[in-house]
Amino acid sequence: MNQSIKGRVFLIGAGPGDPELLTLKAVKAIAQCDVLLVDELVNPVVLQHVRADARIIPVGKRGGCKSTPQPFIERMMLRFARTGAIVGRLKGGDPFVFGRGGEEMLTLRAAGIALEIIPGITAGCAVPAALQIPVTHRDFSRGVTFITGHTKNDEPLNYPALAGSDTTLVIYMGVANLGLIVDGLMAAGMPAAMPTCIIQNGTRNNQRHVVSTLDNIVAETAAANIGSPAIVVIGEVVSLANIQSLSSAEFADEAAA
Ligand code: SAH
Repeated sequence: MNQSIKGRVFLIGAGPGDPELLTLKAVKAIAQCDVLLVDELVNPVVLQHVRADARIIPVGKRGGCKSTPQPFIERMMLRFARTGAIVGRLKGGDPFVFGRGGEEMLTLRAAGIALEIIPGITAGCAVPAALQIPVTHRDFSRGVTFITGHTKNDEPLNYPALAGSDTTLVIYMGVANLGLIVDGLMAAGMPAAMPTCIIQNGTRNNQRHVVSTLDNIVAETAAANIGSPAIVVIGEVVSLANIQSLSSAEFADEAAA
């Protein structure tokens, strides 16, 4: 490790959207940073914790622009850290859950840059919770499986394993392939009546959801015009959803009103 490098990088989970779902550790780290590289899923309200002189660089896709290529983001992190800066890499949810945080960590490690990981509340837990769906409940499931609906080379998911797992399935990035996923699970024997829901912008003021069944979720998602970012939850626990429930962001709004 090159001890002459003074800069360091915080890989920070910014939580699922509600700016109050940020850890105290994240708030402290954000306030120390000279430079912040911020993903598109991060609620900009979180940036109220940055220092007034900090430099903020959005690196997600915004306004129809293409997303910043991953190697470019990694090069920027290295470049700033090598100038001695404290760099914050802010990601939605948890940095190590489908956030490419693992890749960034390996790059920084290989370069000998000091690194600290600050976990965040992942959408896969917090977004179902916003509808009062516990991702596990011992009367209904033996566990929870976090899956991406968007695999690296479009490899199909292991549907027989998923359908037979007796776990709640929580699917990230599942909107585009929702039809394929539903067909795969039903072909593998999952009951058509399995409770299923999709929640868009969970924990945010613009949260929307559809609670349905496996065989109806695709049509109802389209009818409600629900798109990304959304979490799909498949399993008996979805029957516990309280569709009247307010997200904590709404509670925060009400308190402020
Ligand atoms: N690291 C993030 C996930 C990044 S992948 C985490 O731990 O939460 C991006 C996907 O996360 C989105 O496509 C969507 O499936 C999910 N997601 C993130 N925030 C969300 C939110 N507020 N509501 C619904 N889904 C969300």
